[in-house]
Parts: sequence; C-alpha cells; structure tokens
Amino acid sequence: MAKGELRTINGPILAVRETEPGFFVTELVTVGANLLQGEVIALDHRRVVVQLFESPTGLTPGLEVVGTGRPLSTCLQPGIVGHIHDGIQRPLRVDREVSRRNLTHLPPKNWLSPDSPDESQIESETILWDTKITVSPGQYLNAGDIFAEVDETVAITHRAMVPPDISGVVVTSVPDGQYTTGATIITIETEEGPKPLTLTQHWPIRNPRPIQARVTPSRPLITGQRIIDSLFPIAKGGTAAIPGGFGTGKTMTQHQIAKWADADIIIYIGCGERGNEMTEVLEDFGKLIDPRTNKPLLARTILIANTSDMPVAAREASIFTGITLAECYRDMGYHVAVMADSTSRWAEALREISGRLEEMPAEEGYPAYLASRLGSFYERAGYVKTLCGLEGSITVIGAVSPQGADFSEPVTQNTKRFVRCFWALDRQLAYARHFPAIDWMNSYTGYISDLEPWLTKNVGPNIPALREKILNLLQEESKLMEIAKLIGADILPDQERLILAIARVVRLGFAQQNAFHPSDVYTSLAKQQTMMEIILHLHDICQKLLEAGFAMSNLQKEDIFEKVIAAKYKDFNSNDEMLSTYIKEINAFYNRQLTHGYRA
Ligand code: ADP
Repeated sequence: MAKGELRTINGPILAVRETEPGFFVTELVTVGANLLQGEVIALDHRRVVVQLFESPTGLTPGLEVVGTGRPLSTCLQPGIVGHIHDGIQRPLRVDREVSRRNLTHLPPKNWLSPDSPDESQIESETILWDTKITVSPGQYLNAGDIFAEVDETVAITHRAMVPPDISGVVVTSVPDGQYTTGATIITIETEEGPKPLTLTQHWPIRNPRPIQARVTPSRPLITGQRIIDSLFPIAKGGTAAIPGGFGTGKTMTQHQIAKWADADIIIYIGCGERGNEMTEVLEDFGKLIDPRTNKPLLARTILIANTSDMPVAAREASIFTGITLAECYRDMGYHVAVMADSTSRWAEALREISGRLEEMPAEEGYPAYLASRLGSFYERAGYVKTLCGLEGSITVIGAVSPQGADFSEPVTQNTKRFVRCFWALDRQLAYARHFPAIDWMNSYTGYISDLEPWLTKNVGPNIPALREKILNLLQEESKLMEIAKLIGADILPDQERLILAIARVVRLGFAQQNAFHPSDVYTSLAKQQTMMEIILHLHDICQKLLEAGFAMSNLQKEDIFEKVIAAKYKDFNSNDEMLSTYIKEINAFYNRQLTHGYRA
C-alpha cells in the first residue's frame, strides 16, 4: 500500500511526499487518523498532489497519507435510489436542527450534513434485501449479465450484474431470500479462479462503463413541458443545456423535468446550490406522485448534493459520480435522466482547483482542459444496447448560469459543442413572467429528424407540420415586432396583425406554462397536439374571414383569442372532446362574424 507524508496544504490541494511508492493518478487516498478522503491528481517523482474531498480545516503537515489501491469509485448496491448523497456518494441527511452554520445569517431551515460515515455504513451494511436469484449453477454468465433482482424501492428493481470485466460459469448460488449487500450471492469460475459476487459493485467514476453498442436515439424524453416537447424536443439518450441568467428559471425547469419526465430514474446533481434548495427537492419529491406509476417520485430519484458550502473538489467529482451511477442503472436496462444544476458552479470548482495547482489559465481563468472535461461528462449520454443485450439510455440536461447572462462566456460556449439541444432562457421573458422563459428565437434541437418517425407513429401524423407552423408564426411575429416598434402595430396590414394576434395566442396559450397550476404543470403529448391544432384552426378561420373582407379590428372585438389562450387550464375527459369543443366554438365565432360582422 502506497504511503506518504503530508507536506503542504493549499486549500483542498495537498502536496504529499511519497514514502512508500505505488500511488497512481485517480487513486483514492485517506489522510490522517480521521481518514479524510482525497484523490491523487498528479505525480511528479516522489511528490504526489492530492485533491481533498473534505474540509482541510485542522490538517497539519506530517500527517500520514495512505493509498487505498483503487480509484475513486461509485458503489453500486441497493439502497441508493430515494436517497441523497454527497459528491463522492456518501449519504447525507436533512438536519432539521438550527445548525451553528446558519445561525448568523440564514433563517432556521433544513440543512444537509454528512452522516457519520460509520453510522451510515453500518446501517446500510446490515439491511437485509429480499433477493431473487435469476441464474442457476452451470449457467455461463457474460460480463454485464444479471444474476439477481432486489426491489430497491416501490418503483425500481435493482438488478445485480456481473462486473463488466469478468465472466464465467456459475458454480454456487444461494436460494432466494434475504441478504445483505456484502453477502455472497453466487460464485462464478473465471479464468483467474472462482470469484464470489455480491449485490455490491464498484466502478471508477472517471471511466465510462462498457456497452455493446450505441443506438441512434429515436424516442423522445417526454417532459410534459409544451415548449420543450413540441417545439424543441430532446431524445432519450440525448443531451441538452439550459443556459440562463440568475432568476430566469433554470432550477425550476430542471425540477419540472425531474418531476414529470418519462424516465425510469432521475439523477439530480445539485452543484453549488444552496442547501435548502436541495432539501426542498427532497421534500417535494417525497410528497409528489409519479402520474405514470402512481408511486412517489422520490422512489425513482437519486439526489447528489454538493451545496455551495461543501468542498470544491467533491463538487468537481459530483457530476462524474452522478453519471457513473446513471451508467450503472442504464446497464440494468433503465432509461435514466441526469440533471446537473449548475455546470457553471462545477466549472468554477474546476477553475479554483486549477488555480491552486498554478496551471496556465486559458479563457477567463478556466483551465485549458475545461472543454475536454465537459465533453467527458456529456459524451457519456446516449441510447445503448447494454452488455447483457437490454436497451437503456442516459439523457443529460445541464443548467449553465453564465455571469450577466452572457452566452459568449467559455462554459456556455464549450457546452454548446457537446449538446444537441439548447434551451436558452431569456431575461426579458423572465422579467415579463413568461415561464418557462425558453427563448424560441435562440433555442434549438438537433433531434427533430431522429424523433419524427416515433412522433408521427405514436402521437399523430401531423406533428411535424404543426411544429413547423407554430414555429413559423413565432418567427414571423419576431420580425413584425421589429417593424411594429418603428411604425406602430396599427398601421400593419390586417394579414400581419393576424399573425401578431395568433402568435400572441401561441406565446400565452401554448409556450407559457405555469409550474404552479395543477392543470398546467404537465401537458401530455396528445393534449399538446390538440392545443396546436386548435390554435391553427383559429388562424385558418380568421384568415378566411380576412380574405372574405372582414376587418381584423372586428375579429378582435370577440374574446375568442382569450378563450383559446385559456384552453390550457381546462380539463377535458379526452383530447377529442377538447378538440371538438374548441372547433365548435371557433366555428360559431366564424358564423357570428359572417352574419353580424363588418366588412372592412
Ligand atoms: P434560476 O435557477 O435561473 O436562478 P429559478 O429556477 O430559481 O431561477 O426561478 C426563479 C423564479 O422564476 C421561480 O422562483 C419562479 O417563481 C419563477 N419560475 C420559473 N419557472 C417557472 C414556471 N415554469 N412557472 C412558474 N414560475 C416559474
């Protein structure tokens, strides 16, 4: 076991003199008698540089640093889903006491504090899990094959897999029953001899887990958020960024997706968030019921928190811990969505560590490897065929919080290189309380052609045309607004005023969605399609009336536009009922105009 002596302490960066050789880069090490955890990040002859995942307060030179012989890894076992962990996957608990930390400047609130490692470890090691063995002696198991199943929560079955680097014939197996995570479940005969397998598996966080093949993403991640699903959809296995200035709704949008997306498992990584924001997620998700499964949302959620008061090195590690856990569940055949909020706080942690290492800074002080490190996170997203032949996916959605909402800064720009969906949040929209403040003029998605076959087959053949028409209306509105600013909207011809009126219906009645309104918080794809059809029918009817010589100013005297805007709050037994109700209403408006309207 490699050993060293602590020499200098520079915040979370420790310089260690190697006394017994054998350290390697990415090795997990412990420091001092308290066994503080750190990771080797550089080696230079006998000088070892370690980033410490805990507070260095109280450390003194001379302490012993010991290598663990293994890289920083996630520990995959039942008991992860439904819980909150820190950046290196140690359990956290919500401390409801007024802690000394928040006495001075924060009101009493729930706070997160690390469980004593011994306590949590002992607790998790003694839980007996109802285990169903799915293989029998004599069976040959390939790497990644599933050998046992445990109901981890009411929503998730944990599938214990053969580690990706071994295979062999099952020689012993226990009967179905209750076992701890450390108990041997089966033994397989590998080339290197018999190998006992338990419900626990470790995997280094910096290494992607192997797969059989990547598959082109073709199914949408349905979020229930209209502007996302209908106008800028993301595929399961896709990548997206949500950039936006302070208060534009990044966290809210991430929460909405985490709550309503049709993923099997959500991994929510709070990097540099306030502790109370994370405890709110924990409490909210505990109360909410997943509409698809009727199970609590927390039963499919894993939270990873590195709050703003936690050590920066663990923040850097947190997104890799999160994505590695995602890969583990993907390998069990699940569709996982990973939310990282915010990758800017993560990049700042990277910058702080790099600064302390005295590396040559690149743009805005970020290290030159900012892009490659971001890439190594986003590139682990994808739709795959797993080693055991199942289909699974990881969708990654990262919030970016650029200073002053300046999208030209390095984190936003580098993120753009790795994501195919860009949901740009706009300050003006947020000021106008238009939420989600996703700016249709600056947002894009690269998944349209991949998703169209699925959408036309499963939602409706008109979907691509509806999307195009709605987006066109918004784009035309934007151009006309420029002209209207100069000459006034009243001087515009009626055809153009109609575009402005219908685009307003699209903005207020479709793009805007209230996360606090029970009928508006989630919209199914079918209802989204119905709503687009209603808006476009209104457009067609108004156009007919204009062509027949009726005046826009008279059409606007009726409240039909407002009625269609309010449709989002109405609940119907079916979408057909919704469609026919509004078509009737719009047709009645048409007939009223024909009989009582005024021609221009
Ligand atoms: P950010 O993370 O970008 O700083 P937040 O997600 O905290 O911003 O959002 C700021 C505020 O905007 C929220 O407290 C909420 O009032 C409002 N908001 C954001 N999105 C929505 C939404 N979809 N519906 C209603 N209100 C929203």
